[in-house]
Amino acid sequence: MIKNFIGNLYRWAQKNSLWVMHFNSGSCNGCDIEILDTLTPRYDVERLGIVAEASPRHADVLLCTGPVTRQSRDALWQIYSQMPEPKWVVAVGSCSNTGGVFHGSDTVLGGVDEILPVDLYIPGCPCRPEAIIEGLIALRERIYPNVRK
Ligand code: SF4
Repeated sequence: MIKNFIGNLYRWAQKNSLWVMHFNSGSCNGCDIEILDTLTPRYDVERLGIVAEASPRHADVLLCTGPVTRQSRDALWQIYSQMPEPKWVVAVGSCSNTGGVFHGSDTVLGGVDEILPVDLYIPGCPCRPEAIIEGLIALRERIYPNVRK
């Protein structure tokens, strides 16, 4: 009974407290600026339990922007591997979804899913903050769907 209660409490807290970390693996900075906009008080995502986190060791969600370049591949993997389980990856913008306008370049490997398991794709060039927030809410709904908000 107590074990069940603690398990439910943990899942409830996890669902309602997503700490997000951002990593740019080669974007033009358009999507990065939109992520920064999303995290400003104007959108107040903390009301949804979404908090920006600088350290991968404390982050639940990795927000990736840009295509994966040969130069950034190892850093992207290293950051992901430092995040504790459970963890989720969100590809923000067309470049991180598929490689976008950089697809086919010699220095570009493709979208983020070439390196990491992506849980959610948010298209757009760049993504608007509203789309990023909607995506994070959709991700939250997928996490422990039977647990109340
Ligand atoms: S999707 Fe568009 S805005 Fe975002 S990194 Fe690619 S080119 Fe830049």
